[in-house]
Amino acid sequence: MGVIANGPFSKGLSKYKGEKMKAFEEYKDMHIEHSGRTDIKRRYSVTSDILSYRRCPRLYGVQAEMGFSPAQPSQMYVGSVIHQVLDRAHRHYSGKLGEKYHNNIPSDDDIAKYFNDVDQAMKAHGIRPFNKGLSAYVLETLQRFNRIEGPTLYPRVKDTEHRLQSDRKYYFLYGVVDVLVSTENSNSGDNSVEIWDYKGSKHPKSSTKFGKKILEDYTFQMLVYSSLFKLRNGYYPQKGVIYFLGELGGKNQVASRPADAILEVPLNEVEMERAIKSFDETVDEINRSRESDRWDPPRDGKETAGNETCDACDIRASCPSVNYPSRIP
Ligand code: SF4
Repeated sequence: MGVIANGPFSKGLSKYKGEKMKAFEEYKDMHIEHSGRTDIKRRYSVTSDILSYRRCPRLYGVQAEMGFSPAQPSQMYVGSVIHQVLDRAHRHYSGKLGEKYHNNIPSDDDIAKYFNDVDQAMKAHGIRPFNKGLSAYVLETLQRFNRIEGPTLYPRVKDTEHRLQSDRKYYFLYGVVDVLVSTENSNSGDNSVEIWDYKGSKHPKSSTKFGKKILEDYTFQMLVYSSLFKLRNGYYPQKGVIYFLGELGGKNQVASRPADAILEVPLNEVEMERAIKSFDETVDEINRSRESDRWDPPRDGKETAGNETCDACDIRASCPSVNYPSRIP
């Protein structure tokens, strides 16, 4: 306004100003109630919103809604380091980190270097492993993965960190596919791909209630990603693959892929539609929690939330669904 009033367009502005003042005087006492609602759409991610809320609404409320960070972010550390180091390994092979690396499988030393870079960056953001042993374990696991899978997997990688989004009526549905891989021995050309997701854990046991639930969650994740993938690319992936890097770690000096390292998720349209509907339902539940400000833990505590999540939970001492003794440090 100041620029216009003092600049070349100022001619005749006094008349305009007078009219504006008149309108202002007329309406200055008008009071309009704010509806309390905004039309800004939130963005919900499959893993950090929907699956986290389903595991424990109380913990989700504290972290995602109130913004508290976990005091022991080891789970976050393992997941982030694995994803970031493997992303560098894929970019190394594709030549994006330098033409001299193109078509070269990273060596153990290359993986150690990428690991150290990521580890330092994570620590600078306050995300640390709870002990040095965990760092060494993660590095060793990544080097094994690189040796076992690199020669056959890296040449098939078409894209990494493949971002997917869908504009739903009230929110954006969001997900990131870790790796897009050409289907082996495919006759369908460029449109034949698999979506791969890396997990730092071991293959969950379908014989336990929690293991069964986690397997259902991962299947759900793949079904939602496939549906979003179709929206972005115009065709469905052939299948979803979940790779459990935890099966390569520890004392087992595996030199080839253990059978349990892979979970293949068959995809079909009916199941995909069901998954999107169930995503909508969880978003509705989150909204109800937000509106009522009620973030209740699952009634059966660890059965649904999982031992690892509860053991690392900062609000476990006051949780009505589990029985942790209060300790004075
Ligand atoms: S202890 Fe477990 S059930 Fe209780 S709030 Fe924490 S994660 Fe949820």
